[in-house]
Amino acid sequence: MKIHNFSAGPSILPQEVLQESSKAVLDFNQSGLSILEISHRSKDFIAVMDKAVALVRELLSVPEDYEVLFLQGGASLQFVMIPFNLMKIGGKAGYLDTGEWSSKALKEAKKFGEVVVLASSEDKNHTYIPKDYVIPADLDYIHLTSNNTIFGTQIQSFSKQAVPVVCDMSSDIFSRKINVADFDLIYAGAQKNMGPAGATLVIVKKDILGKTGRDIPSYLDYQVHAKAESMFNTPPVYATYVSMLTLQWLKDKGGVEAIEKINNEKADLLYKELERNALFKTVAQVEDRSKMNVTFLLADENLTETFDAFWKSKGISAISGHRKVGGYRASIYNALSKESVLYLIEVLQEFEKQNS
Ligand SMILES: *Cc1c(COP(=O)(O)O)cnc(C)c1O
Repeated sequence: MKIHNFSAGPSILPQEVLQESSKAVLDFNQSGLSILEISHRSKDFIAVMDKAVALVRELLSVPEDYEVLFLQGGASLQFVMIPFNLMKIGGKAGYLDTGEWSSKALKEAKKFGEVVVLASSEDKNHTYIPKDYVIPADLDYIHLTSNNTIFGTQIQSFSKQAVPVVCDMSSDIFSRKINVADFDLIYAGAQKNMGPAGATLVIVKKDILGKTGRDIPSYLDYQVHAKAESMFNTPPVYATYVSMLTLQWLKDKGGVEAIEKINNEKADLLYKELERNALFKTVAQVEDRSKMNVTFLLADENLTETFDAFWKSKGISAISGHRKVGGYRASIYNALSKESVLYLIEVLQEFEKQNS
């Protein structure tokens, strides 16, 4: 039976990418060597890194005055590197608290200086995105989380601000068009929408760096990584390679604009079904709903065991919700096809027929 993978992360990758990358494990570029056993300074790998960076630049139309870095440590290390590199000594940053990941980012920033919580959705268990908040002019930067992977909410639009804007795009980067110039720093762990775990993408505006007066340890200093073109030390070779292939796959599909259209269709179809089907209800406030992570509940919790056994028997994988939300979460990232969404909808309808 075909398994439909709705995992929140690490998550589904395109079949073509899995095939191509598995070949490189045995014989990379017909060199007779595995990509896992060659130098990161070799011509073949430098070409991979250069291509990965070029694809990021092309797919997101990254302006020239931004660095594109492939780092390690996941989004979680960025929670630390961001204040280290951007918060002045005795400085202040503003964080929008929209759930688990933004809380974790905020917690690290507090170790470097004052953190202003711009607004929080905690009062309603993060089922919405706060909108009417004031951004004080004296902040070193503000921090946003574009898509809240756990709660299934997403910021729908962005604009340039008077202070630098930092955004965690771990779970929706490359899923929709963004204007990079609205941001000063964008970061994403690869393992949701870009590739496998192990690589972290950072896109940072050059002129916001080097201004804090802090003595930053080399490894945590963006300028060190930028100067070394993401080769300050051994980079995450294989994760970067698979990310590069995934970005190439996206380009071949027509790029971000084309995938955004499909992502919108997928999300619309699934939310419509969840609204129509009386056995289910959605979690997030309608206008803030995520197009990547669709959170939903059973209307009657007594059906939990029956439903869980049912979807598992149908080849649906990993739709259990995060413990902070409960219920279910279908992650419908770029690599998850519209066919898989239509199949999930069929499964929900079949369950409805059997239980009403
Ligand atoms: C998964 C996730 C993280 C954590 O990423 P790591 O790479 O595991 O550190 C951070 N932010 C968001 C929005 C996420 O979805």
